[in-house]
Amino acid sequence: MKKLFLIIGAPGSGKTTDAELIAKANDNITHYSTGDMFRAEVASGSQRGELIKSFIEKGDLVPIEIVIETIVGAIKKAPTAVVVIDGYPRSTEQMVELDNYLADEDGVELMSVIEVEVSEETAKNRIIGRAEEAEVARDDDSVEVFYNRMKVYTEPLSAIQKFYSAKDLHKVISGEGTIEEIVAMMNEFVNSKI
Ligand code: AMP
Repeated sequence: MKKLFLIIGAPGSGKTTDAELIAKANDNITHYSTGDMFRAEVASGSQRGELIKSFIEKGDLVPIEIVIETIVGAIKKAPTAVVVIDGYPRSTEQMVELDNYLADEDGVELMSVIEVEVSEETAKNRIIGRAEEAEVARDDDSVEVFYNRMKVYTEPLSAIQKFYSAKDLHKVISGEGTIEEIVAMMNEFVNSKI
């Protein structure tokens, strides 16, 4: 039985960094980031990557069929019993699709959806900081694209919170502290559930 944790958070919330560190600290945990998986596909130069790029650079959501294939593929290929995926779900449609998949799949249990909560100001400052520090900045780390990414993230958020709260699977962790503080909280929480 695989135990699945999902991590959601605004652009700049630090969700991928947090999840990477948790996987590093626990041999039994594998981490995938939907954003990283899509960027890898773009970097491969495939036709599918070209299509994905056209959405990422605007801060829009990649089409649902590609997203579902990507996360189901990640869950299946994970070599450990505990899988942490950040960046999913990002729409009510994705949430419902996963729910249907899990209903038919006895081998995977959703343990929690962790929301890394940051203010819009913190998120924006981190994205701008990241763009300034990076040797090769991400195409979508500009102020203009940031506002669209924020809008795309925020729009379905209350429906997602409500859906998982009703299942007692919604957990909020503040993303405002230092990385060490946030990772310590998340690590303790994840380990309490496995
Ligand atoms: P991130 O690295 O999480 O900031 O994601 C970067 C970009 O990848 C997003 O702005 C979207 O274009 C795309 N993306 C990541 N996760 C998803 C998802 N679950 N559904 C659709 N698009 C996604």
